[in-house]
Amino acid sequence: MTSDRPTIFALSSGRPPVAVAVVRICGPQAGRALEKLTGRVPPPRRAALARVRDPADGEIIDEALALWFPGPNSETGEDMAEIQVHGGQAVIAALLGALGRVEGCRMAEPGEFTRRAFINGRLDLTEVEGLADLIAAETPAQRRQAYRQLKGLIGDQAEAWRRQIIEALALVEARIDFSDEADVPEDLVGPALHAAQQLRNMIGASLADGGRGERLRDGVVVAIAGPPNAGKSTLLNRLARREAAIVSPYPGTTRDVIEVHFDLAGYPVTLLDTAGIRGSDDPVEQEGIRRATARAAAADLILWVIDSQASERPIGENLENRGTTNCWLVCNKVDLAGDKLWINSESRSAPYAKQFAISAATGSGVEALIGALSAYAQTYFAATESALVTRARHRQALEATVAALDRALAQRASGHEELIAEELRAAATTLGRLTGRVDVEDILDVIFRDFCIGK
Ligand code: GDP
Repeated sequence: MTSDRPTIFALSSGRPPVAVAVVRICGPQAGRALEKLTGRVPPPRRAALARVRDPADGEIIDEALALWFPGPNSETGEDMAEIQVHGGQAVIAALLGALGRVEGCRMAEPGEFTRRAFINGRLDLTEVEGLADLIAAETPAQRRQAYRQLKGLIGDQAEAWRRQIIEALALVEARIDFSDEADVPEDLVGPALHAAQQLRNMIGASLADGGRGERLRDGVVVAIAGPPNAGKSTLLNRLARREAAIVSPYPGTTRDVIEVHFDLAGYPVTLLDTAGIRGSDDPVEQEGIRRATARAAAADLILWVIDSQASERPIGENLENRGTTNCWLVCNKVDLAGDKLWINSESRSAPYAKQFAISAATGSGVEALIGALSAYAQTYFAATESALVTRARHRQALEATVAALDRALAQRASGHEELIAEELRAAATTLGRLTGRVDVEDILDVIFRDFCIGK
């Protein structure tokens, strides 16, 4: 089935130099390539010591471990080979060069192994996404969610729902196509709509999760805001230095926001430093500021940092308009306070959920703030263990399914069987898009299986 497909190979392990480099080969020529380079194909799924030679001149490249995974029970569903060599630049270059000279073999494009696994039915689309998330996971909670998805948490559920919709559709279609036949019962549409209603409720329930599954991929967003010179950047830097688990500090989507990703208690937290948000006449900068402000306003939590020593303490502008976003007050520079009471009038009057007295400069009080942020992330993500929807794509597909089911149910009174069938078909198709498995033949299969109509 795959003999016309090129055989692909790639370095699957990390950037050299490393101790061990893994080169994977996939496709109809995988076995031949392995034989050409190592002299033989080892028994399936057994590691074998092998000398890797360049077939061009017979020169030994390295001593390696060779593995052979014949299709279809391989990761991609096709013949696969794996060569583990010492992970030096020159070793890898020689091995890849030699593979490139084997007929029918070429370097893989990004994601091509996984694409083949999908095409060969080894992974559905949601599992492909789970695999991508697992590779990108930075915290234990993200890893767990990605692994559940890779193992088919949402894919299997969507597939089960789609089957049930197709069963309901088969009932309605049978009613339409074979209404003259004596042995097709009158009321097939009633049970079909009953099933549709139940499905609609179930899918609706899994959509009502507050978007936590999606958020776990990105992290709970905490914006550091406050008047200029309150010490926001100093605080962010201290947090970044204090948390060894910090993963990827990079400038945000605009040049005005610095984003830092943390692993707090195993959960991802994205801190935004809005210190760069300030007035400007430059239209490009203004657009940046607008986006930065919007991003901060959409944060789950705002840390409102003030200088506890400043005589004038502006109340946070826009704080009244921040809707339901939580806000904590962080009184900074307590190192300058001596024995003075740090809590000022603002902190008493404004509706802050929590208050902290810290010194971003000396680090005093920062532990308590980190502890509270960890607890916040933990509570925030407490419900994600059961979250089904982890991407906007899933949400859109499930929402479209619910909408189609609703349209089908709305036809209950009208009794328009064709319209009901059409909407049920639309619902099955949108669910099929979720997993990437859309097959109209399925409907016929169910009809013939359940109704024995071809008598
Ligand atoms: P931002 O504009 O809110 O980002 O404020 P910065 O982080 O740039 O800090 C403004 C000034 O306050 C800098 O000179 C910092 O060194 C100083 N600063 C920040 N935090 C503290 C603190 O806890 N104690 C003291 N004494 N100075 C601080």
